Amino acid sequence: MGKDSLVTDQSILHSYVEVVNSDNIGGNVRENDFVVARPRSTDEVARIVRFAARKKIPLIARGAGTSREGATLPLPKSVVVDFTTMSRILDVNVENGTVLAQPGIALDLLEEKLNERGLSVGHGPEHATLGGSIGTNSLGQGSSRFGDMRNFVADLEVVVGEGTVFHTGRAVWRNNTGYSLTQLFIGSEGTLGLITAVTLKAGARPESTQKRMYAFQSPLDHVVSVARGIEGAFLPDGNRVDDEARNDGEVSTIRVTFRGKREVVELQTKLCDEFVSARGGQVVPDDIAADLVQKRSAKGFEMGVRPTEARNVPEEPALRFSDWKSSLEKWKNLCERHEIDYHGCQLNISYPGVITFYSGYSTNRPEKVESYRLLMREFYSYVIERQGSFSATHGVGKRMSGFMSAQYSKEYLELMRRIKGVFDPLNIFNPSAVL
Ligand SMILES: Cc1cc2nc3c(=O)[nH]c(=O)nc-3n(C[C@H](O)[C@H](O)[C@H](O)COP(=O)(O)OP(=O)(O)OC[C@H]3O[C@@H](n4cnc5c(N)ncnc54)[C@H](O)[C@@H]3O)c2cc1C
Repeated sequence: MGKDSLVTDQSILHSYVEVVNSDNIGGNVRENDFVVARPRSTDEVARIVRFAARKKIPLIARGAGTSREGATLPLPKSVVVDFTTMSRILDVNVENGTVLAQPGIALDLLEEKLNERGLSVGHGPEHATLGGSIGTNSLGQGSSRFGDMRNFVADLEVVVGEGTVFHTGRAVWRNNTGYSLTQLFIGSEGTLGLITAVTLKAGARPESTQKRMYAFQSPLDHVVSVARGIEGAFLPDGNRVDDEARNDGEVSTIRVTFRGKREVVELQTKLCDEFVSARGGQVVPDDIAADLVQKRSAKGFEMGVRPTEARNVPEEPALRFSDWKSSLEKWKNLCERHEIDYHGCQLNISYPGVITFYSGYSTNRPEKVESYRLLMREFYSYVIERQGSFSATHGVGKRMSGFMSAQYSKEYLELMRRIKGVFDPLNIFNPSAVL
């Protein structure tokens, strides 16, 4: 690996420290305390791993660096392995519906290239890299019906231990032979090894996509029940409810996505419009809806990725659907008690029980950062007590690892540590994340 693949310039290194929620993790590393390697091939990755194993240097895998729980935050004396320089598509097989790609490719670019060949993965978030998306087992915003990354990956090429390269799967979809190491690596947040190539399932590119937003002035209960009705009647690709606070306090909304043959999508949309209008909802014109979504996500991305004074934080636990209302009340009460601004909530209807709670505080007031930490602790204790999980989407990273012992037994955690030890006996792969 040449010197040009190593980043030591401190102004560039700064961007690797500035990760989502870093103020909420504490003990941040400084720019002069780590380096970044940008490999171009599996061989180069294996060489980095061999070197790190010899010197016992922590390796932090990184894609676009947008994961929410600080999983890519460097450690002192670590090497961040930035995969964005490994972003080639190696093979597209239209007949088999597969794509083989390097992990650093962004999901939106992958989709664009697949679309040119009549294929689609249709997964998000678009800004994520393929490797990062597998690392966190991401769930796409408009594609919930196709599931999370676990439903797309057939095979991973990985580098583990002291530089061993192997494949976790085969090039076929059904592979019912023994333990699935592919599934073990999905969602492992860079703690078991480094992913260097991915075989993904790609479906036919849908002829047409229609996103629809419906606005309601009725109570949230009613809106949720309409969205559940839509789910049963139309099985859209995505189906989410946002409360009034997410929509500048005016209306609650349902956002659905239909994909497929043009005539079918048009008919589904028409029938869905009628279904909603009979229940008190109104179609939001497409340009206004797109504008609202764009504003929300631009704000969320800026505030999420770059620490700003006024932080906008989403928390995304998994709860039983029957707990959505009481958990929302709990969240609002805690926000009030800890003087944290409530910014709204989003219920994922295609994945019932995945709820995002948004709130904000000023990061230049240390007492607010501390209040938010207390709020989180109380809220996640409640989630765990209700038999939910403290993370539905974003993983554990470094921010949430403290909750693992509240959610799992000692024996369970010990088994996880032993599994990690099989792939990573020297504990060099993202050592302080997850466990
Ligand atoms: C505004 C905003 C919106 C978001 N929306 C969503 C959403 O809709 N759904 C969702 O699921 N998430 C969402 N996220 C969270 C985040 O974008 C996802 O977790 C995404 O999958 C992370 O991708 P990344 O390329 O940024 O990965 P990174 O943050 O770089 O890495 C994520 C994890 O994967 C590991 N990793 C990366 N590359 C490799 C590799 N080659 N080998 C082994 N491990 C690796 C890292 O060590 C880390 O643990 C959002 C984040 C933001 C800021």
